[in-house]
Amino acid sequence: MNADAVSAVAGMATLITGIGELTTNDPGADDPCGTLTDAAVLVEGGRISWVGDTARVPSVPATAEVVDVAGRAVLPGFVDSHTHLVFGGDRADEFEARMAGRPYTAGGIQRTVAATRAASDAELSARVRGFVAELHRQGTTTVEIKTGYGLTVDDEARLARIAREVTDEVTFLGAHVVPAEYAEDRAGYVDLVTSAMLTAVAPHCRGIDVFCERGAFDEEESRRVLAAGAARGLQPRVHGNQLGEGPGVALAVAVGAASVDHCTFLSDADVALLAGSDTVATLLPGVEFSTRQPYPDARRLLDAGVTVALASDCNPGSSFTSSMPLMIALAVREMGMTVAEAVWAATAGGARALRRTDVGAVRVGARADLVVLDAPSRTHLAYRPGVPLVTEVWKDGARVFAA
Ligand SMILES: [Zn+2]
Repeated sequence: MNADAVSAVAGMATLITGIGELTTNDPGADDPCGTLTDAAVLVEGGRISWVGDTARVPSVPATAEVVDVAGRAVLPGFVDSHTHLVFGGDRADEFEARMAGRPYTAGGIQRTVAATRAASDAELSARVRGFVAELHRQGTTTVEIKTGYGLTVDDEARLARIAREVTDEVTFLGAHVVPAEYAEDRAGYVDLVTSAMLTAVAPHCRGIDVFCERGAFDEEESRRVLAAGAARGLQPRVHGNQLGEGPGVALAVAVGAASVDHCTFLSDADVALLAGSDTVATLLPGVEFSTRQPYPDARRLLDAGVTVALASDCNPGSSFTSSMPLMIALAVREMGMTVAEAVWAATAGGARALRRTDVGAVRVGARADLVVLDAPSRTHLAYRPGVPLVTEVWKDGARVFAA
Protein backbone atom coordinates (compact mmCIF):
# COMPACT_ATOMS: atom_id res chain seq x y z
CA MET A 1 0.00 0.00 0.00
CA ASN A 2 1.49 3.39 -0.90
CA ALA A 3 1.34 6.45 1.34
CA ASP A 4 -1.67 7.93 -0.48
CA ALA A 5 -3.62 4.69 -0.09
CA VAL A 6 -2.79 4.58 3.63
CA SER A 7 -4.04 8.12 4.17
CA ALA A 8 -7.20 7.32 2.19
CA VAL A 9 -7.88 4.42 4.56
CA ALA A 10 -7.20 6.62 7.58
CA GLY A 11 -9.55 9.26 6.19
CA MET A 12 -12.44 6.84 5.71
CA ALA A 13 -15.29 6.62 8.15
CA THR A 14 -16.02 3.34 9.93
CA LEU A 15 -18.98 2.62 12.18
CA ILE A 16 -18.41 -0.28 14.57
CA THR A 17 -21.77 -1.32 15.95
CA GLY A 18 -23.35 -4.18 17.88
CA ILE A 19 -20.69 -3.99 20.62
CA GLY A 20 -21.85 -6.16 23.52
CA GLU A 21 -19.37 -4.68 26.01
CA LEU A 22 -17.31 -1.59 25.25
CA THR A 23 -14.39 -0.72 27.55
CA THR A 24 -13.90 3.02 27.09
CA ASN A 25 -11.65 3.85 30.08
CA ASP A 26 -13.65 7.04 30.26
CA PRO A 27 -14.15 6.76 34.00
CA GLY A 28 -17.60 6.64 35.51
CA ALA A 29 -18.52 7.05 39.18
CA ASP A 30 -17.48 3.56 40.23
CA ASP A 31 -16.24 2.03 36.98
CA PRO A 32 -12.72 3.05 35.95
CA CYS A 33 -13.19 1.09 32.72
CA GLY A 34 -16.17 3.23 31.71
CA THR A 35 -18.07 0.19 30.47
CA LEU A 36 -20.92 0.60 27.98
CA THR A 37 -23.21 -2.14 26.73
CA ASP A 38 -24.97 -2.37 23.36
CA ALA A 39 -22.64 0.34 22.10
CA ALA A 40 -21.26 1.74 18.86
CA VAL A 41 -18.13 3.71 17.89
CA LEU A 42 -17.76 6.02 14.90
CA VAL A 43 -14.28 6.53 13.46
CA GLU A 44 -13.44 9.40 11.11
CA GLY A 45 -10.04 10.55 9.91
CA GLY A 46 -8.26 7.99 12.07
CA ARG A 47 -9.81 9.37 15.26
CA ILE A 48 -12.87 8.46 17.29
CA SER A 49 -15.63 10.95 16.50
CA TRP A 50 -18.56 9.48 18.43
CA VAL A 51 -19.14 6.85 21.18
CA GLY A 52 -22.51 5.82 22.51
CA ASP A 53 -25.61 3.66 22.45
CA THR A 54 -26.32 1.63 19.30
CA ALA A 55 -29.84 3.07 19.22
CA ARG A 56 -28.51 6.64 19.08
CA VAL A 57 -25.92 6.40 16.29
CA PRO A 58 -25.69 9.72 14.41
CA SER A 59 -26.02 9.83 10.62
CA VAL A 60 -22.81 8.57 9.06
CA PRO A 61 -21.30 9.32 5.65
CA ALA A 62 -22.80 7.17 2.85
CA THR A 63 -19.30 5.85 2.14
CA ALA A 64 -18.76 4.71 5.72
CA GLU A 65 -17.92 1.08 6.31
CA VAL A 66 -20.32 -0.46 8.81
CA VAL A 67 -18.93 -3.31 10.92
CA ASP A 68 -21.41 -5.19 13.10
CA VAL A 69 -19.45 -7.13 15.73
CA ALA A 70 -22.55 -9.08 16.80
CA GLY A 71 -22.33 -8.68 20.57
CA ARG A 72 -18.57 -9.10 20.91
CA ALA A 73 -16.44 -7.12 23.36
CA VAL A 74 -14.40 -4.13 22.14
CA LEU A 75 -11.63 -2.38 24.04
CA PRO A 76 -8.87 0.16 23.39
CA GLY A 77 -5.77 -1.23 21.68
CA PHE A 78 -3.22 -2.41 24.23
CA VAL A 79 -0.42 0.01 25.07
CA ASP A 80 2.75 -2.00 25.66
CA SER A 81 4.90 0.63 27.35
CA HIS A 82 8.04 -1.50 27.83
CA THR A 83 9.77 -3.72 25.25
CA HIS A 84 13.24 -4.42 23.87
CA LEU A 85 12.36 -5.53 20.32
CA VAL A 86 15.46 -4.63 18.30
CA PHE A 87 17.97 -7.42 18.78
CA GLY A 88 19.79 -10.26 17.05
CA GLY A 89 19.69 -13.95 17.95
CA ASP A 90 17.76 -15.49 20.79
CA ARG A 91 18.57 -17.20 24.12
CA ALA A 92 16.42 -20.30 24.05
CA ASP A 93 19.34 -22.31 25.42
CA GLU A 94 19.63 -19.99 28.44
CA PHE A 95 15.89 -20.33 29.05
CA GLU A 96 16.12 -24.09 28.90
CA ALA A 97 19.05 -24.09 31.34
CA ARG A 98 17.23 -21.75 33.72
CA MET A 99 14.16 -23.96 33.70
CA ALA A 100 16.53 -26.79 34.62
CA GLY A 101 17.49 -24.89 37.78
CA ARG A 102 20.09 -22.20 37.07
CA PRO A 103 19.12 -18.70 38.39
CA TYR A 104 18.77 -15.70 36.06
CA THR A 105 21.41 -12.95 36.17
CA ALA A 106 21.78 -9.89 33.97
CA GLY A 107 24.95 -11.29 32.34
CA GLY A 108 23.07 -12.91 29.49
CA ILE A 109 22.43 -9.48 28.00
CA GLN A 110 26.04 -9.50 26.77
CA ARG A 111 25.24 -12.43 24.48
CA THR A 112 22.41 -10.53 22.84
CA VAL A 113 24.69 -7.49 22.50
CA ALA A 114 27.17 -9.61 20.52
CA ALA A 115 24.44 -11.07 18.29
CA THR A 116 22.88 -7.64 17.71
CA ARG A 117 26.18 -6.00 16.77
CA ALA A 118 26.72 -8.81 14.25
CA ALA A 119 23.29 -8.35 12.61
CA SER A 120 22.78 -6.06 9.61
CA ASP A 121 20.39 -3.12 9.61
CA ALA A 122 18.19 -5.02 7.15
CA GLU A 123 18.04 -8.08 9.40
CA LEU A 124 17.15 -6.05 12.48
CA SER A 125 14.60 -3.98 10.59
CA ALA A 126 12.87 -7.03 9.11
CA ARG A 127 12.74 -8.65 12.50
CA VAL A 128 11.23 -5.69 14.32
CA ARG A 129 8.61 -5.34 11.58
CA GLY A 130 7.76 -8.99 12.15
CA PHE A 131 7.35 -8.28 15.86
CA VAL A 132 5.03 -5.37 15.12
CA ALA A 133 2.81 -7.68 13.05
CA GLU A 134 2.89 -10.14 15.97
CA LEU A 135 1.82 -7.32 18.33
CA HIS A 136 -1.07 -6.32 16.07
CA ARG A 137 -2.36 -9.90 15.97
CA GLN A 138 -2.53 -9.80 19.78
CA GLY A 139 -4.23 -6.42 20.02
CA THR A 140 -1.27 -4.14 20.79
CA THR A 141 -1.48 -0.87 18.86
CA THR A 142 1.08 1.28 20.74
CA VAL A 143 4.51 -0.06 21.59
CA GLU A 144 7.52 1.46 23.30
CA ILE A 145 10.85 0.02 22.13
CA LYS A 146 14.15 0.46 23.96
CA THR A 147 17.67 0.38 22.55
CA GLY A 148 20.27 -1.29 24.72
CA TYR A 149 21.74 -4.18 22.75
CA GLY A 150 24.21 -2.02 20.79
CA LEU A 151 26.16 -0.24 23.57
CA THR A 152 28.46 1.57 21.13
CA VAL A 153 27.70 5.00 19.73
CA ASP A 154 27.03 3.68 16.23
CA ASP A 155 25.12 0.58 17.31
CA GLU A 156 22.84 2.41 19.75
CA ALA A 157 22.13 5.03 17.08
CA ARG A 158 21.17 2.43 14.49
CA LEU A 159 18.95 0.53 16.94
CA ALA A 160 17.15 3.77 17.78
CA ARG A 161 16.75 4.62 14.09
CA ILE A 162 15.41 1.13 13.26
CA ALA A 163 12.98 1.24 16.20
CA ARG A 164 11.84 4.69 15.10
CA GLU A 165 10.79 3.20 11.74
CA VAL A 166 7.96 1.36 13.53
CA THR A 167 7.07 3.50 16.57
CA ASP A 168 7.19 7.04 17.93
CA GLU A 169 8.00 5.64 21.37
CA VAL A 170 11.72 4.94 21.32
CA THR A 171 13.69 4.94 24.58
CA PHE A 172 17.47 5.16 24.87
CA LEU A 173 18.83 2.41 27.12
CA GLY A 174 22.57 2.75 26.64
CA ALA A 175 22.74 2.14 30.41
CA HIS A 176 21.46 -1.43 30.09
CA VAL A 177 24.70 -3.12 31.17
CA VAL A 178 28.35 -2.08 31.03
CA PRO A 179 29.65 -3.74 27.85
CA ALA A 180 32.54 -6.17 28.15
CA GLU A 181 35.06 -3.77 26.60
CA TYR A 182 34.40 -1.28 29.45
CA ALA A 183 34.45 -3.86 32.26
CA GLU A 184 37.51 -2.17 33.81
CA ASP A 185 36.27 1.38 33.18
CA ARG A 186 32.67 1.78 34.35
CA ALA A 187 33.02 5.54 34.75
CA GLY A 188 34.30 5.78 31.18
CA TYR A 189 31.23 3.95 29.93
CA VAL A 190 28.83 6.21 31.84
CA ASP A 191 30.74 9.19 30.37
CA LEU A 192 30.18 7.78 26.89
CA VAL A 193 26.47 7.12 27.49
CA THR A 194 25.93 10.67 28.74
CA SER A 195 27.91 12.36 25.94
CA ALA A 196 28.56 11.06 22.41
CA MET A 197 26.09 8.16 22.62
CA LEU A 198 23.29 10.37 23.89
CA THR A 199 23.99 12.95 21.20
CA ALA A 200 23.81 10.29 18.47
CA VAL A 201 20.65 8.65 19.77
CA ALA A 202 18.56 11.55 21.11
CA PRO A 203 17.09 12.68 17.75
CA HIS A 204 15.28 9.32 17.46
CA CYS A 205 14.09 9.02 21.08
CA ARG A 206 11.38 10.29 23.44
CA GLY A 207 12.69 8.61 26.59
CA ILE A 208 15.82 7.60 28.46
CA ASP A 209 16.02 4.56 30.70
CA VAL A 210 18.56 3.02 33.04
CA PHE A 211 18.85 -0.46 34.54
CA CYS A 212 19.32 0.54 38.20
CA GLU A 213 20.02 -2.83 39.79
CA ARG A 214 22.78 -4.94 41.32
CA GLY A 215 25.00 -6.09 38.46
CA ALA A 216 23.95 -3.15 36.29
CA PHE A 217 24.12 0.56 37.33
CA ASP A 218 24.16 1.97 40.87
CA GLU A 219 22.13 4.91 42.11
CA GLU A 220 24.71 7.60 41.37
CA GLU A 221 25.48 6.28 37.87
CA SER A 222 21.76 6.01 37.17
CA ARG A 223 21.13 9.56 38.36
CA ARG A 224 23.84 10.89 36.01
CA VAL A 225 22.38 9.04 33.03
CA LEU A 226 18.83 10.27 33.65
CA ALA A 227 19.94 13.85 34.26
CA ALA A 228 21.88 13.91 30.98
CA GLY A 229 18.86 12.58 29.10
CA ALA A 230 16.45 15.00 30.77
CA ALA A 231 18.76 17.87 29.77
CA ARG A 232 18.19 16.75 26.15
CA GLY A 233 14.43 16.66 26.64
CA LEU A 234 14.16 12.89 27.04
CA GLN A 235 11.56 11.58 29.49
CA PRO A 236 13.23 9.60 32.30
CA ARG A 237 12.21 6.02 33.12
CA VAL A 238 13.88 3.43 35.32
CA HIS A 239 14.26 -0.35 35.42
CA GLY A 240 14.28 -0.90 39.17
CA ASN A 241 13.55 -3.19 42.11
CA GLN A 242 13.47 -6.29 39.91
CA LEU A 243 15.94 -8.57 41.64
CA GLY A 244 15.70 -7.13 45.16
CA GLU A 245 14.94 -3.95 47.07
CA GLY A 246 17.10 -1.06 45.94
CA PRO A 247 17.25 2.63 45.07
CA GLY A 248 15.36 2.44 41.73
CA VAL A 249 11.92 3.55 42.91
CA ALA A 250 13.19 6.42 45.07
CA LEU A 251 15.41 7.65 42.23
CA ALA A 252 12.56 7.44 39.71
CA VAL A 253 10.25 9.46 41.94
CA ALA A 254 12.99 11.98 42.76
CA VAL A 255 13.68 12.73 39.08
CA GLY A 256 9.99 12.75 38.12
CA ALA A 257 10.30 9.65 35.92
CA ALA A 258 7.26 8.75 33.83
CA SER A 259 7.52 5.18 35.09
CA VAL A 260 9.55 2.80 37.18
CA ASP A 261 9.38 -0.66 35.76
CA HIS A 262 9.45 -4.10 37.47
CA CYS A 263 8.69 -3.04 41.11
CA THR A 264 8.88 -6.66 42.21
CA PHE A 265 10.62 -5.97 45.55
CA LEU A 266 9.35 -2.81 47.27
CA SER A 267 9.75 -1.42 50.78
CA ASP A 268 6.82 0.33 52.46
CA ALA A 269 8.69 3.59 51.85
CA ASP A 270 8.86 2.81 48.10
CA VAL A 271 5.11 2.23 47.97
CA ALA A 272 4.44 5.48 49.84
CA LEU A 273 6.74 7.42 47.50
CA LEU A 274 4.97 6.02 44.43
CA ALA A 275 1.55 6.76 45.89
CA GLY A 276 2.53 10.39 46.39
CA SER A 277 3.93 10.84 42.89
CA ASP A 278 2.77 10.72 39.27
CA THR A 279 5.38 8.08 38.45
CA VAL A 280 3.61 4.96 37.16
CA ALA A 281 4.58 1.54 38.54
CA THR A 282 4.86 -0.64 35.45
CA LEU A 283 4.60 -4.33 36.28
CA LEU A 284 6.10 -6.90 33.90
CA PRO A 285 4.76 -10.31 34.93
CA GLY A 286 6.14 -12.00 31.81
CA VAL A 287 9.53 -11.71 33.52
CA GLU A 288 8.46 -13.46 36.70
CA PHE A 289 6.66 -16.09 34.64
CA SER A 290 9.70 -16.72 32.45
CA THR A 291 12.28 -16.61 35.24
CA ARG A 292 10.24 -18.38 37.94
CA GLN A 293 10.49 -15.44 40.32
CA PRO A 294 7.83 -14.17 42.74
CA TYR A 295 5.30 -11.86 41.10
CA PRO A 296 5.02 -8.19 42.12
CA ASP A 297 2.23 -7.48 44.60
CA ALA A 298 -0.08 -5.37 42.47
CA ARG A 299 -2.78 -5.42 45.13
CA ARG A 300 -0.50 -3.67 47.62
CA LEU A 301 0.25 -0.92 45.07
CA LEU A 302 -3.36 -0.43 44.01
CA ASP A 303 -4.62 -0.34 47.58
CA ALA A 304 -2.04 2.37 48.33
CA GLY A 305 -3.31 4.45 45.40
CA VAL A 306 -0.37 3.87 43.01
CA THR A 307 -1.06 4.05 39.26
CA VAL A 308 -0.19 0.64 37.80
CA ALA A 309 0.58 -0.28 34.20
CA LEU A 310 1.14 -3.73 32.71
CA ALA A 311 3.67 -4.32 29.93
CA SER A 312 5.36 -7.30 28.31
CA ASP A 313 9.07 -6.39 28.66
CA CYS A 314 9.40 -8.49 25.50
CA ASN A 315 13.11 -9.34 25.22
CA PRO A 316 15.10 -12.46 24.35
CA GLY A 317 16.43 -13.06 27.88
CA SER A 318 13.87 -12.70 30.63
CA SER A 319 10.48 -12.48 28.86
CA PHE A 320 10.26 -13.50 25.22
CA THR A 321 6.53 -12.93 24.91
CA SER A 322 4.73 -9.98 23.33
CA SER A 323 1.30 -11.05 24.56
CA MET A 324 -0.61 -8.41 26.51
CA PRO A 325 -3.54 -10.83 26.99
CA LEU A 326 -1.06 -13.12 28.79
CA MET A 327 0.02 -10.20 31.02
CA ILE A 328 -3.63 -9.57 31.91
CA ALA A 329 -4.20 -13.24 32.69
CA LEU A 330 -1.09 -13.37 34.93
CA ALA A 331 -2.02 -10.12 36.69
CA VAL A 332 -5.45 -11.47 37.52
CA ARG A 333 -4.41 -15.02 38.40
CA GLU A 334 -1.15 -14.26 40.25
CA MET A 335 -1.00 -10.61 41.31
CA GLY A 336 -4.33 -9.83 42.92
CA MET A 337 -5.68 -7.54 40.22
CA THR A 338 -9.32 -7.57 39.20
CA VAL A 339 -10.07 -8.06 35.51
CA ALA A 340 -11.07 -4.41 35.20
CA GLU A 341 -7.86 -3.23 36.89
CA ALA A 342 -5.70 -5.43 34.67
CA VAL A 343 -7.39 -4.36 31.44
CA TRP A 344 -7.14 -0.70 32.50
CA ALA A 345 -3.44 -1.17 33.35
CA ALA A 346 -2.75 -2.75 29.93
CA THR A 347 -4.42 0.13 28.07
CA ALA A 348 -4.90 3.42 29.97
CA GLY A 349 -2.12 2.52 32.42
CA GLY A 350 0.36 2.02 29.59
CA ALA A 351 -0.69 5.36 28.13
CA ARG A 352 -0.02 7.03 31.51
CA ALA A 353 3.39 5.35 31.67
CA LEU A 354 4.21 6.95 28.31
CA ARG A 355 2.53 10.23 29.30
CA ARG A 356 0.18 9.91 26.35
CA THR A 357 -3.42 11.15 26.31
CA ASP A 358 -4.31 10.15 22.73
CA VAL A 359 -4.21 6.36 23.25
CA GLY A 360 -5.52 3.86 25.80
CA ALA A 361 -9.13 5.08 25.81
CA VAL A 362 -12.17 5.01 23.55
CA ARG A 363 -13.38 8.60 23.67
CA VAL A 364 -14.00 11.38 21.17
CA GLY A 365 -10.72 12.73 19.82
CA ALA A 366 -8.59 9.73 20.78
CA ARG A 367 -6.76 7.73 18.15
CA ALA A 368 -9.04 5.05 16.70
CA ASP A 369 -7.05 2.10 18.13
CA LEU A 370 -9.56 -0.67 18.82
CA VAL A 371 -9.56 -4.39 19.55
CA VAL A 372 -12.48 -6.75 18.96
CA LEU A 373 -12.50 -9.97 21.01
CA ASP A 374 -14.23 -13.11 19.89
CA ALA A 375 -15.86 -13.13 23.32
CA PRO A 376 -18.73 -11.32 25.03
CA SER A 377 -16.59 -9.57 27.67
CA ARG A 378 -13.04 -8.52 28.56
CA THR A 379 -13.17 -11.04 31.41
CA HIS A 380 -12.45 -13.74 28.84
CA LEU A 381 -8.91 -12.34 28.45
CA ALA A 382 -8.09 -13.74 31.90
CA TYR A 383 -10.69 -16.50 31.97
CA ARG A 384 -9.41 -18.12 28.74
CA PRO A 385 -5.62 -17.72 28.98
CA GLY A 386 -3.63 -18.67 25.91
CA VAL A 387 -6.64 -18.62 23.59
CA PRO A 388 -6.26 -16.22 20.62
CA LEU A 389 -9.41 -14.17 21.26
CA VAL A 390 -8.32 -11.05 19.34
CA THR A 391 -10.29 -11.16 16.11
CA GLU A 392 -9.99 -7.67 14.62
CA VAL A 393 -7.69 -4.71 15.30
CA TRP A 394 -7.75 -1.07 14.11
CA LYS A 395 -4.87 1.36 14.49
CA ASP A 396 -5.42 5.04 13.65
CA GLY A 397 -8.69 4.00 12.01
CA ALA A 398 -7.08 1.47 9.66
CA ARG A 399 -7.68 -2.26 10.08
CA VAL A 400 -4.26 -3.78 10.81
CA PHE A 401 -5.45 -7.30 11.66
CA ALA A 402 -8.46 -9.48 10.95
CA ALA A 403 -8.53 -13.14 11.96
ZN1 LIG B 1 13.06 -4.23 30.30
